[in-house]
Amino acid sequence: MESFKVTVNHNRCVGSQLCVMFLPAVFKLNEDGQSTVFATAGVDVNSVVQTAEQCPQCAIRVEDVSTGEVLFPPVELEM
Ligand code: SF4
Repeated sequence: MESFKVTVNHNRCVGSQLCVMFLPAVFKLNEDGQSTVFATAGVDVNSVVQTAEQCPQCAIRVEDVSTGEVLFPPVELEM
């Protein structure tokens, strides 16, 4: 099991595909043109956080499973 959890907020995702371009092994667009998490096995959490930082909609959330800490987004960007 991965030590982190990644989710995409579909109320925010506009399908810009930036995350898919940065991490195609992790993110795929679904049939609605929105990003979904495909796989995270063997992926460095830092690369996921860096990708989440690039999302123009701040739609990607990364959480440390063991501590519950939200690695991204920071509190001020969460709505
Ligand atoms: S970068 Fe953000 S808005 Fe663009 S597809 Fe990925 S999650 Fe959606």
